[in-house]
Amino acid sequence: PPLDELVAAVAVDIPDFPEPGVVFRDLTPVFADAGVFRRVVEALAGSVLEDPRVGALRTGPDDPGFDVVVGVEARGFLLAAAVALVAGTGVVPVRKAGKLPRATVAAEYALEYGTAVLELHTDSVRPGQRVLLVDDVLATGGTLEAAAGLVERLGGVVSALSVVVELPALGGRERLRPHTVHALWTT
Ligand code: 5GP
Repeated sequence: PPLDELVAAVAVDIPDFPEPGVVFRDLTPVFADAGVFRRVVEALAGSVLEDPRVGALRTGPDDPGFDVVVGVEARGFLLAAAVALVAGTGVVPVRKAGKLPRATVAAEYALEYGTAVLELHTDSVRPGQRVLLVDDVLATGGTLEAAAGLVERLGGVVSALSVVVELPALGGRERLRPHTVHALWTT
Protein backbone atom coordinates (compact mmCIF):
# COMPACT_ATOMS: atom_id res chain seq x y z
CA PRO A 1 0.00 0.00 0.00
CA PRO A 2 1.03 3.64 -0.45
CA LEU A 3 3.03 4.99 2.47
CA ASP A 4 0.47 7.65 3.47
CA GLU A 5 -2.18 4.93 3.83
CA LEU A 6 0.18 2.77 5.88
CA VAL A 7 1.03 5.63 8.23
CA ALA A 8 -2.64 6.58 8.54
CA ALA A 9 -3.52 2.98 9.39
CA VAL A 10 -0.83 2.61 12.06
CA ALA A 11 -0.95 6.09 13.69
CA VAL A 12 -3.43 6.52 16.53
CA ASP A 13 -5.64 9.59 17.10
CA ILE A 14 -5.86 10.56 20.76
CA PRO A 15 -8.76 12.91 21.52
CA ASP A 16 -8.30 15.60 24.19
CA PHE A 17 -4.51 15.24 24.44
CA PRO A 18 -2.56 17.14 25.73
CA GLU A 19 -5.64 19.24 26.51
CA PRO A 20 -9.41 19.18 25.84
CA GLY A 21 -10.38 19.83 22.22
CA VAL A 22 -7.04 18.78 20.69
CA VAL A 23 -6.75 15.55 18.70
CA PHE A 24 -3.16 14.33 19.05
CA ARG A 25 -1.72 12.13 16.30
CA ASP A 26 0.37 9.54 18.11
CA LEU A 27 3.09 8.26 15.80
CA THR A 28 4.85 5.99 18.29
CA PRO A 29 3.21 2.90 16.68
CA VAL A 30 4.63 4.05 13.32
CA PHE A 31 8.14 4.09 14.81
CA ALA A 32 7.58 0.74 16.54
CA ASP A 33 6.62 -1.11 13.33
CA ALA A 34 9.87 -2.25 11.67
CA GLY A 35 8.55 -2.25 8.11
CA VAL A 36 6.66 1.03 8.32
CA PHE A 37 9.52 2.75 10.15
CA ARG A 38 12.01 1.70 7.46
CA ARG A 39 9.75 3.02 4.70
CA VAL A 40 9.13 6.27 6.57
CA VAL A 41 12.84 6.88 7.11
CA GLU A 42 13.73 6.08 3.50
CA ALA A 43 10.92 8.33 2.28
CA LEU A 44 12.02 11.23 4.52
CA ALA A 45 15.56 10.93 3.13
CA GLY A 46 14.37 10.40 -0.44
CA SER A 47 11.53 12.91 -0.71
CA VAL A 48 13.97 15.79 -0.99
CA LEU A 49 15.68 14.20 -4.00
CA GLU A 50 12.80 15.25 -6.28
CA ASP A 51 12.72 18.79 -4.84
CA PRO A 52 14.07 21.19 -7.50
CA ARG A 53 15.31 23.59 -4.81
CA VAL A 54 17.35 20.78 -3.29
CA GLY A 55 18.35 19.61 -6.76
CA ALA A 56 20.01 22.97 -7.30
CA LEU A 57 22.12 22.33 -4.18
CA ARG A 58 23.22 18.82 -5.20
CA THR A 59 26.74 18.39 -6.52
CA GLY A 60 26.16 14.98 -8.12
CA PRO A 61 24.00 11.85 -8.14
CA ASP A 62 25.44 10.60 -4.85
CA ASP A 63 24.95 13.92 -3.04
CA PRO A 64 21.59 14.02 -1.21
CA GLY A 65 21.62 17.84 -1.20
CA PHE A 66 22.25 18.17 2.53
CA ASP A 67 25.35 17.74 4.69
CA VAL A 68 23.69 17.12 8.02
CA VAL A 69 20.25 16.26 9.42
CA VAL A 70 18.92 18.43 12.25
CA GLY A 71 16.21 16.85 14.41
CA VAL A 72 13.91 18.64 16.85
CA GLU A 73 13.47 17.32 20.40
CA ALA A 74 12.11 14.85 21.11
CA ARG A 75 10.23 12.82 18.49
CA GLY A 76 12.32 14.42 15.75
CA PHE A 77 15.37 12.71 17.27
CA LEU A 78 13.96 9.25 16.53
CA LEU A 79 13.61 10.14 12.88
CA ALA A 80 16.60 12.40 12.30
CA ALA A 81 19.20 9.85 13.42
CA ALA A 82 17.75 7.17 11.19
CA VAL A 83 17.47 9.54 8.20
CA ALA A 84 21.09 10.62 8.70
CA LEU A 85 22.27 7.01 8.74
CA VAL A 86 20.36 6.25 5.52
CA ALA A 87 21.64 9.42 3.82
CA GLY A 88 25.21 9.00 5.02
CA THR A 89 25.35 12.23 7.04
CA GLY A 90 25.70 13.17 10.68
CA VAL A 91 22.85 14.23 12.94
CA VAL A 92 22.53 17.35 15.12
CA PRO A 93 19.96 17.97 17.87
CA VAL A 94 17.86 21.10 18.38
CA ARG A 95 16.92 20.92 22.05
CA LYS A 96 14.64 22.55 24.57
CA ALA A 97 16.24 25.24 26.73
CA GLY A 98 18.95 24.25 29.17
CA LYS A 99 19.77 20.80 27.82
CA LEU A 100 22.80 21.49 25.63
CA PRO A 101 26.09 21.80 27.59
CA ARG A 102 28.11 24.19 25.42
CA ALA A 103 27.57 27.62 23.81
CA THR A 104 24.23 27.83 22.01
CA VAL A 105 22.06 30.09 19.93
CA ALA A 106 18.49 30.24 21.23
CA ALA A 107 15.10 31.11 19.77
CA GLU A 108 11.91 31.80 21.67
CA TYR A 109 8.70 30.84 19.89
CA ALA A 110 5.01 31.00 20.68
CA LEU A 111 3.04 28.01 21.90
CA GLU A 112 -0.74 28.02 22.18
CA TYR A 113 -0.28 29.12 25.79
CA GLY A 114 2.97 30.94 26.51
CA THR A 115 6.34 30.47 24.86
CA ALA A 116 9.14 27.92 24.63
CA VAL A 117 12.84 28.14 23.78
CA LEU A 118 14.85 25.95 21.41
CA GLU A 119 18.66 25.85 21.34
CA LEU A 120 21.39 24.70 18.98
CA HIS A 121 25.12 24.39 19.71
CA THR A 122 26.86 27.27 17.92
CA ASP A 123 29.51 24.98 16.43
CA SER A 124 27.17 22.22 15.28
CA VAL A 125 26.26 23.92 11.99
CA ARG A 126 29.00 25.63 9.99
CA PRO A 127 28.50 28.53 7.56
CA GLY A 128 27.38 27.22 4.19
CA GLN A 129 26.53 23.78 5.53
CA ARG A 130 23.33 22.39 4.00
CA VAL A 131 20.75 21.17 6.50
CA LEU A 132 17.75 18.86 6.24
CA LEU A 133 15.39 19.65 9.14
CA VAL A 134 13.27 16.73 10.38
CA ASP A 135 10.35 16.49 12.80
CA ASP A 136 7.42 14.13 13.24
CA VAL A 137 4.46 16.53 12.87
CA LEU A 138 4.01 19.95 11.24
CA ALA A 139 1.16 21.82 12.93
CA THR A 140 1.36 25.64 13.10
CA GLY A 141 5.00 25.59 11.94
CA GLY A 142 6.24 27.55 14.95
CA THR A 143 8.66 24.82 16.01
CA LEU A 144 10.26 24.32 12.62
CA GLU A 145 10.32 28.07 11.97
CA ALA A 146 12.34 28.53 15.16
CA ALA A 147 14.64 25.61 14.34
CA ALA A 148 15.24 26.87 10.79
CA GLY A 149 16.00 30.32 12.18
CA LEU A 150 18.68 28.87 14.46
CA VAL A 151 20.32 27.04 11.56
CA GLU A 152 20.33 30.23 9.49
CA ARG A 153 21.74 32.33 12.34
CA LEU A 154 24.78 30.04 12.25
CA GLY A 155 25.09 30.54 8.49
CA GLY A 156 23.59 27.18 7.58
CA VAL A 157 21.49 26.70 4.47
CA VAL A 158 18.14 24.96 4.98
CA SER A 159 17.85 22.51 2.07
CA ALA A 160 14.32 21.44 3.00
CA LEU A 161 12.05 20.42 5.87
CA SER A 162 10.73 16.86 6.12
CA VAL A 163 7.91 15.67 8.36
CA VAL A 164 5.85 12.50 8.60
CA VAL A 165 2.51 14.24 9.15
CA GLU A 166 1.32 17.69 8.05
CA LEU A 167 -1.86 19.19 9.49
CA PRO A 168 -2.59 21.65 6.64
CA ALA A 169 -5.48 23.41 8.36
CA LEU A 170 -2.97 25.05 10.71
CA GLY A 171 -1.05 26.78 7.92
CA GLY A 172 2.45 25.61 8.78
CA ARG A 173 3.55 25.20 5.18
CA GLU A 174 2.64 28.81 4.33
CA ARG A 175 4.33 30.10 7.47
CA LEU A 176 7.57 28.31 6.58
CA ARG A 177 7.88 29.79 3.09
CA PRO A 178 10.22 30.11 1.23
CA HIS A 179 11.38 26.81 2.70
CA THR A 180 9.92 23.70 1.10
CA VAL A 181 8.06 21.21 3.30
CA HIS A 182 7.95 17.52 2.40
CA ALA A 183 5.22 15.58 4.20
CA LEU A 184 4.59 11.86 3.89
CA TRP A 185 0.97 12.14 5.03
CA THR A 186 -1.16 15.29 4.83
CA THR A 187 -4.34 15.10 6.84
P1 5GP B 1 3.93 23.40 15.61
O1 5GP B 1 5.09 24.12 16.18
O2 5GP B 1 4.10 23.14 14.12
O3 5GP B 1 2.61 24.00 15.93
O4 5GP B 1 3.87 21.98 16.32
C1 5GP B 1 4.75 20.97 15.92
C2 5GP B 1 5.44 20.41 17.11
O5 5GP B 1 4.52 19.96 18.09
C3 5GP B 1 6.25 19.19 16.68
O6 5GP B 1 7.49 19.18 17.39
C4 5GP B 1 5.40 18.01 17.06
O7 5GP B 1 6.16 16.98 17.60
C5 5GP B 1 4.41 18.57 18.08
N1 5GP B 1 3.01 18.24 17.72
C6 5GP B 1 1.99 19.11 17.50
N2 5GP B 1 0.86 18.45 17.25
C7 5GP B 1 1.16 17.14 17.29
C8 5GP B 1 0.40 15.93 17.10
O8 5GP B 1 -0.81 15.91 16.83
N3 5GP B 1 1.09 14.76 17.22
C9 5GP B 1 2.42 14.72 17.49
N4 5GP B 1 3.02 13.51 17.54
N5 5GP B 1 3.15 15.83 17.69
C10 5GP B 1 2.53 17.02 17.59
